[in-house]
This record gives sequence, structure tokens and C-alpha cells, in this order.
Amino acid sequence: MNFSTSCIFAEFPLDPCDPIRSDEEEINSLVYAENTRFMAFFDGLALVKSADDITPIYFTYKDINEYVEDEIIFLGKDDVQAYFAVNVRNKNSLQGSGAYLDLRTIARKATKEGFSSVPSLLARGKMLLDWHSRHKHCANCGALSISGKGGYVRKCPSCDTEHFPRVDPVVIMMITYADKCLLGRSPHFLTGMYSALAGFMEPGETIEEAVRREVLEEAGIIVGKVSYIKSQPWPFPSSLMIGAIGQAKDDKINIENDELEGAKWFSKQEIRDVIKSGGDDHFRVPEKFAIARHLLEYWLEED
Ligand SMILES: [Zn+2]
Repeated sequence: MNFSTSCIFAEFPLDPCDPIRSDEEEINSLVYAENTRFMAFFDGLALVKSADDITPIYFTYKDINEYVEDEIIFLGKDDVQAYFAVNVRNKNSLQGSGAYLDLRTIARKATKEGFSSVPSLLARGKMLLDWHSRHKHCANCGALSISGKGGYVRKCPSCDTEHFPRVDPVVIMMITYADKCLLGRSPHFLTGMYSALAGFMEPGETIEEAVRREVLEEAGIIVGKVSYIKSQPWPFPSSLMIGAIGQAKDDKINIENDELEGAKWFSKQEIRDVIKSGGDDHFRVPEKFAIARHLLEYWLEED
């Protein structure tokens, strides 16, 4: 893993085709084109060939039409065809010999095999479908809004406001002090798991300010220099994880809140050992598909 390695869910493989999004006729002709690929989702799960083969099962509109629930999302085109995402009404619809899998399982499988842009394709479909199902009404006047631009906007017919798909930025940070890094445990973590601290950005904050505030709130540690490292789209439901490394000004941990169950400093050797062994109920670190793991490995490679 190196600096330029993308996190899984990154590297969206299609041209999102913004110029044709406003052309309803064009989108409509793509819907009905025989080589267009529709992907099926149910309750946040994506229909793929199997747990061992995460290739999505593709349908034509003719095949999927009667099962579609709500919006049709135009994701974009590759060199050959257009791709759409839809929710289906029930989990048995169209399943056949395929499997509806959650995106963490898909990400884990793709990461084992190296890297694949399939999780990114599915993540965008899931994020947009989620947004539509949770934002049916205009936030300005409460009227029922209508999907437009192939699912990249909702327009209110009553007050003309346009609403755009939401992304929630989250800062996730590896805090270092001398040869040690700070990892924390949330109460809902797997036994033994320690990970980078993280938190939602607040309105008006810079990334650096959000990193410093979160670490002070969660672990009582003052952070000086903050460096941005890389980011990861995170489709649960629709976040952008902004990965950073911050330098602590001292190493005295002070937890006075219930966000963290514990936080500890770990040496590079301890992290190398746990990565090598795979970890156990006493200590484990995040899986390879998580940006927290990328940050750890980035820090290990630093001089
Ligand atoms: Zn409105």
C-alpha cells in the first residue's frame, strides 16, 4: 500500500455525463436502449452474482421495470453503455441465483482481490437511492418533490427549490506523538478493535479545525500540525471520510465523554505485529478496506 493507493469505494468507473442530464429525452432513450445496464438494490443491499463473485447482475429496463420501486438513477456511461440503479420492491425480486449483499461485504471481497471499481459503482447507486428515499419532501415547504437530472436533483413543484444529493464529511485522523500513534475504541466496536478517531465536521469548520476539535473532545489531546492524506467515499449512508495525520502536542489522554470506551498509544512495532498476526480479541486494527487502515500503513512507512 502506498500514498497513491485508492481506498475502496473510490475511482468511480463511469462518465457521469452531466451535459445530458438535463435532456429528459436522451435519458429516456438510454433507459430503453437494449444494451443499457440496470442494477438492482434492496434496502441498501446490491444484487451481485454471488458472495464469491461480486460482479453486479445487470438487467434491461424491460426485465426490471415491473419490480422498480420509486426513482430511476442514471449513474453514467462507459465506452459501451449506460448504467442505472433502482430499488426493487422486495428482496425475492429478480434474485435468481444471485445474492443481495451489503457493501461492506462487497468491499471486503474486492479488497482481497486487490482493487476493483465495482464497489464505487455500487456505492454511488446506493447513496443516491438512499438519499431519494429519505428526502421525498421539500425541506423548504414540505411539498412532495420530484426527481430530476437522472436522480442528481429533487425539484419542488410548489416553491421551485432545488435540492441536491447530500454528502456528510467526516474527519478521520491518525494522531501521532514521537514514535506512537493514538487509536481509540468505541463501545460498538468488535472486541479488541482500536481505530483512528473520527467525527462529523461541523458547519463552518476547516478540516484542520475539525481534526483538532474532535481529538480534544474525544481524548483530551491538543493537536498541532494536521496534514491531509487521502479520502474515501463511505456509503453508510453517504459520507466522505477525510483522512488526516495530526501531531499531538503531548501524550496525556483524558477521556471525559461516552464517545470512546478507551484510547491508547501504540508503537510502530505493536502495529506491525498486529497487522502481521491479524489480531485477536485483545488487539486488532481495522480491515484493509477501511481508510483507517490506510492511514496506519501510511504512518508505518513514514520515516
Ligand atoms: Zn418546496
